[in-house]
Amino acid sequence: MSIKTANLGFPRIGKHRELKFALEAYWSGKSDAQTLLETAGTLRAKHWKLQQEKGVDAIPSNDFSFYDHVLDTAVMVGAIPDGYGWSGGHVGLATYFALARGSQGEAACGCGGTHGEPRAALEMTKWFDTNYHYLVPEFSAGQGFILTGNRPLEAFLEARAIGIYTRPVILGPVTFLKLGKARDGSDPVDLLDRLLPVYRKILVELQEAGADWVQIDEPCLALDLTDKERDSLVRTYTAFAEAVPGLSILVASYYGPLGDNRDTALSLPVAGLHLDGIRGGEELAAIAGDAPAHLLLSLGLIDGRNIWRADLEDVVQRIEPLVAGRAPDLLQIAPSCSLLHLPFDLSDETALDLELRASLAFASEKLDELAVLREALSGNRPAVEAKIAASSRIARTRRTSRKVHDPLVEGRLLAVSRDMMQRARPYSARRTVQQHHLHLPVLPTTTIGSFPQTMEVRRARSAHLKGELSYIDYKAFLERETESAIRWQEDVGIDVLVHGEFERNDMVQYFAEQMDGYAFTKNGWVQSYGSRCVRPPIIYGDVSRPRPMTVDWAVFAQSKTSRPMKGMLTGPVTMLQWSFVRDDIPRDVVCRQIALAIRDEVQDLEKVGIAIIQIDEPALREGLPLRRRDWQAYLGWATESFRLSASGVADRTQIHTHMCYSEFNDIMDAIITMDADAISIETSRSKMELLDVFADKRYPNEIGPGVYDIHSPRVPTVEEIVELIEAASARLDPSQLWINPDCGLKTRRWEEVKPALANMVQAARQLRQRL
Ligand code: GLN
Ligand code: ZN
Repeated sequence: MSIKTANLGFPRIGKHRELKFALEAYWSGKSDAQTLLETAGTLRAKHWKLQQEKGVDAIPSNDFSFYDHVLDTAVMVGAIPDGYGWSGGHVGLATYFALARGSQGEAACGCGGTHGEPRAALEMTKWFDTNYHYLVPEFSAGQGFILTGNRPLEAFLEARAIGIYTRPVILGPVTFLKLGKARDGSDPVDLLDRLLPVYRKILVELQEAGADWVQIDEPCLALDLTDKERDSLVRTYTAFAEAVPGLSILVASYYGPLGDNRDTALSLPVAGLHLDGIRGGEELAAIAGDAPAHLLLSLGLIDGRNIWRADLEDVVQRIEPLVAGRAPDLLQIAPSCSLLHLPFDLSDETALDLELRASLAFASEKLDELAVLREALSGNRPAVEAKIAASSRIARTRRTSRKVHDPLVEGRLLAVSRDMMQRARPYSARRTVQQHHLHLPVLPTTTIGSFPQTMEVRRARSAHLKGELSYIDYKAFLERETESAIRWQEDVGIDVLVHGEFERNDMVQYFAEQMDGYAFTKNGWVQSYGSRCVRPPIIYGDVSRPRPMTVDWAVFAQSKTSRPMKGMLTGPVTMLQWSFVRDDIPRDVVCRQIALAIRDEVQDLEKVGIAIIQIDEPALREGLPLRRRDWQAYLGWATESFRLSASGVADRTQIHTHMCYSEFNDIMDAIITMDADAISIETSRSKMELLDVFADKRYPNEIGPGVYDIHSPRVPTVEEIVELIEAASARLDPSQLWINPDCGLKTRRWEEVKPALANMVQAARQLRQRL
């Protein structure tokens, strides 16, 4: 008897991002709902058939979504706040997209009238430690739940109608509630008893329709859980076992080991349990040993989070003993998690280095690996021997390839010493030198780096990429843009200038393209949220910087002004977080390699006379591991990498960093450890309350709390900005403060940016007079 394979979820956006284009055409009114529904149906059918052809035994359904599966769940159970045009019953596309994207009022109700109030979209946040974003369910005080439409059932029937028998996927109730927030601040998990009847109904209907298995995702099992949450899991699955004795439930945990949730997971009265065998590889054997005899174990053996081909020999070796100890019908093999986080397939990647391409597996190729594993583990090894040997050969090549391993980089890394990771003298000493060198007023004004990426800028870039605009003309265009941004900053009276980043496509890609060890795909799109997709660069080898990356632009920009021009770099942690990272060496080692490359750039900028250098680290916080006990280790190497990149300069050179958020409560010590001379953060919306933690911890260095909300087209008045600065001064010593917007201005229009920054400068001037 052969072991079965399962897939937990398939990328929904489509091989050529068909869903993205269908959504955007619909939103802009260029196509109608019918067309959108048809495209979606075609994609689902295509993806189901593909999985069938690849021989997947348990094919997921209801893993599709028009925007986000957490939103789908909220909508399905009627957790829809007022004001989005829902009046009970079926939820239409208008309400659904109003929740996802906000509404202008009329759109929300779909009646064509204009009685609805404009409504902001639900809050969006990162899904676990991935770069996928979900919409945060919002629960009201008296929240009730009703089934507005049985989506898993519809998906199951839709697939069955084309002859494919699927295993529907549902986001589990405990994870769903835990990811939401209650408007009154209460614990959403307290709503469980109201929610369970809706889930029971979904399951009963699935059972009646003839489904035999259902996959219920509870990735919260990879998080730190309270006793109450653990108890909620047990209560949930006990209730389900009673409600649908004829339906086999597989609970899926992924994104990490079960750790201290393992007893809870093993005690659930369910038919199957999926484990992340990549991130939880170390506990796998022990859990399999302890699992109840009747429990079907689904082992996630193929990495669903990364694009590397597996060494199948290695997987077989590790897993064979475990397989030997269990009846084959109580075992299933699968990717570690849904394949949502991977690009569709490799077929378009013809421009990649062949050796690199051979070592990659995107979603579709991951399913091929699974099929090979199944044969190998089911006694058909000879049939797949060649494929297993090939996968091991590729893994061996990666271990020794000159394309991957650069002895210079590896040697440099070994030579990194403690003092390379700290500035020569403490901030207090540097401060005096810097003040003397820079002559800045109190409350100095600056911006975060980018200025509007206008239509002209984007057009010129794409014309240059297509070969329609010569490099010389493109460069001349960028120089004009840069120079006029500099003139304008001088005229309005900003103290520390930026060059505007017109030459950059993206803050990570721009640098990655100039570093060795990085590769880029043509079609490696991954859903970030809704229709937005990103194409993360791939770090495949030792990273280094063959030549300066930003020095020419910095020199050009500085030559146009006598005021200090900030050098602008992306930090090592962000370069790491927003890429697919090689899995043959630890992440912290990769991060240090990038840090060394940035360090070279920082030193080169100093050499050409750039006095202030900003190293952006917007991704530092999002890199936090899922479990608290892993935080210290992460923050240790992350802040060390930052310091490695920043510390090779003289006292007089001022290092800034920037982070696009303001929740620093639990990482404040790490922020202090970074020892940037100045940090800019996002605070305008919180009325500076989020600065309290900087005050409490007596943040010693300089700080620029954002005074201009760049997420809104609204122009803040001088008075508002004055108030914000006053609120900041009440918490911190004014001599510590910088005045700047929340973040870069690339998404804004000049018509908004100009008056807003003029007001910012006015506000700073008013307050200087009072000091
Ligand atoms: N320097 C970048 C900019 O201004 C920073 C962007 C970011 O923080 N995400 O656009
Ligand atoms: Zn930012």
